[in-house]
Amino acid sequence: AASTIPWRRVVVKLSGEALMGSSSHGLDAPTLNRIAGDLAGAAALGVEVAVVVGGGNFFRGIAGADKGIERARADSIGMLATVMNGLALEYAIEKQGQSARTLSSIPMPSICEPYSRQTALHHLGKGRIVVLAGGTGNPFFTTDTGAALRGAELSCDLIMKATQVDGIYSADPKRDPTAVRYDKLTHDEAISKNLAVMDTAAFALARENRIPIIVFSIGEAGAISAALLGKGRATYVSP
Ligand code: UDP
Repeated sequence: AASTIPWRRVVVKLSGEALMGSSSHGLDAPTLNRIAGDLAGAAALGVEVAVVVGGGNFFRGIAGADKGIERARADSIGMLATVMNGLALEYAIEKQGQSARTLSSIPMPSICEPYSRQTALHHLGKGRIVVLAGGTGNPFFTTDTGAALRGAELSCDLIMKATQVDGIYSADPKRDPTAVRYDKLTHDEAISKNLAVMDTAAFALARENRIPIIVFSIGEAGAISAALLGKGRATYVSP
């Protein structure tokens, strides 16, 4: 099977919302287990898998700022939220019988290893799924940018952006019935059309480092493996 997969090492961007299932916030155990199984399935294909987790199911910096917490402080809280998701995801992946390690951009060594490029590459080389928590470690960024940054740093050949819909649309398909879906786009097009699926900083970083992005729905079991094998609907962004 490995010969049919053009990807050697990928980074998956998983938003916090993907982990909350039909709940309004926090973690949903069946959803967490399904996604953990999906990630384990992707690793079983022989692909090295890094995962950048978001934190929006617990806390977002912008929401905190709206409530009067200064943005930099609110973003620190948001980054801690991503660590909560990372630890939960690592546990769920290991329960599937697949080894995983959480690395945090904000060092908290009694809970998980601090992120370094060398540590991440070491674990990936051992076939472990590396869960990257803490985003970039800096306020005023997002975990989308974290995924593009780690993707570049770890020489990933694909950024896999998991969403609630099956690709990039010209407008939000849940709100606008006239929205059209794209099969393929260039980074330039995604940026110039202002397609809101990832923030511009993330697209720009991916463009500069010529890393393709696949945008796909994480709604069904097996979605990550399907995207790796070129099956299922998705939008493919390439230079
Ligand atoms: N965050 C940050 N720097 C980063 C990544 C994340 O400050 O490099 C904070 C920011 O407040 C953000 C929150 O962490 O709102 C959660 O991340 P994000 O919104 O990207 O999560 P997602 O929407 O993917 O669940």
